[in-house]
Amino acid sequence: MNLYDLRDSIDNNDVGKEMYGLIEELYPICRSITGNGARQSLDILKKHIPLTIQEIPTGTQVFDWTVPKEWNIKDACIKNSKGDKVIDFQDSNLHVVNYSVPIRKEMTLAELKDHLHTIPEYPDWIPYRTSYYKETWGFCLSHNQFLKLEDDDYEVLIDSSLKDGHLAYGEYYLSGRNGDEILISCHICHPSLSNDNLSGIAVSTFLAKYLSSLSLKFSYRFLFIPGTIGSITWLSLNESNVSKIKHGLVLACVGDSGRYTYKKSRLGNAEIDRIVMNILKHSGEENKAIDFSPYGYDERQYCSPGFNLPVGCFMRTPYGEYPEYHTSADNLDFVQPGYLAASFSILLSILSVIESNDRYLSLNSKCEPQLGRRGLYDHLGGKAGSKARQLAMLWVLNLSDGNHTLLDISDRSGLDFSLIKNAADSLTDSGLITVMDKR
Ligand SMILES: [Zn+2]
Repeated sequence: MNLYDLRDSIDNNDVGKEMYGLIEELYPICRSITGNGARQSLDILKKHIPLTIQEIPTGTQVFDWTVPKEWNIKDACIKNSKGDKVIDFQDSNLHVVNYSVPIRKEMTLAELKDHLHTIPEYPDWIPYRTSYYKETWGFCLSHNQFLKLEDDDYEVLIDSSLKDGHLAYGEYYLSGRNGDEILISCHICHPSLSNDNLSGIAVSTFLAKYLSSLSLKFSYRFLFIPGTIGSITWLSLNESNVSKIKHGLVLACVGDSGRYTYKKSRLGNAEIDRIVMNILKHSGEENKAIDFSPYGYDERQYCSPGFNLPVGCFMRTPYGEYPEYHTSADNLDFVQPGYLAASFSILLSILSVIESNDRYLSLNSKCEPQLGRRGLYDHLGGKAGSKARQLAMLWVLNLSDGNHTLLDISDRSGLDFSLIKNAADSLTDSGLITVMDKR
């Protein structure tokens, strides 16, 4: 089975529900860039794909960075003078600033306020805050909770640890017919947040799971890594193999209802950039392509000038462009199975193009061959789609000069890639063209 057969045989409803189920399972876990939350999450992914989990020790030098101490948390709360928990980590793991150092202390409201974070514009939502590289502590709460805090003496408890340990990440390598690689990367470091980033984890996991049953041209490398430090670590440890990566995508924010957004690689006109834009254009869905900028997800590292890999970022609504981003409102209602499934289907189409974007050579290049004689020309015409099919064949015949890929032909003709690919298959079967340099 190839990717086209897979895309056509999949029940989107079922895949959407499966991906959403994985998000529900991962949602309660308190993840961070290091610690047991990430490990527990990777173990859950292992039920779907045979991930290798790498453990990189604290203090490992990775380019200009150092793998940080490992953070773990058991519990946290703020109690008032009556002993009532006014903020409780067990209600939401967003309540604690991620990477907070341990503390157990009594303090006044005035002292406590320096360590509290809210979003006054959205008074019911809890913000998500981190402090990975500065040792501090804090609590996040809804602004309404904040307004209810009375002038009182409070007991603050954060039962966390920040010690030498390891940074864990997951890697799954799927071997294809050639050693050239497609990189699919997602970050795994956010606690209870669905679109950023559980949606990327779920879609990556199910892409890996479904691809593993196929006969593939390219090899695929799936990375499940903590944001920034994870990709820096991976690049540092795998620098000698990075040139094998021919195309790559960072997946994030793929489960919301918004339009598709594709952030191009730093190269801007890499094959992956052209493929994603071609597929989105023909998808009939609202979409937008944006140029690379050195801000965002791990494409920042893959596209740093010393690597400059052809890696773009595939999203629906981008980071920072939806108010729920990095708040408790990016919850299990914000992502939906149907949106996850639609993203999944677009990604399968993108990978189908990557797998089949060959060049062909016409074996009958002097004037048009007679298609009718070969059963390739519908004399009666008028059948739905038959005109487009014939046009696709004429374009493929004309541009099968060894210089044009099927993507070039799709772009130039304005015809859907799968139509062009079908035409190329029919013409190959009829002996009119032959595939070149099967890449
Ligand atoms: Zn984020």
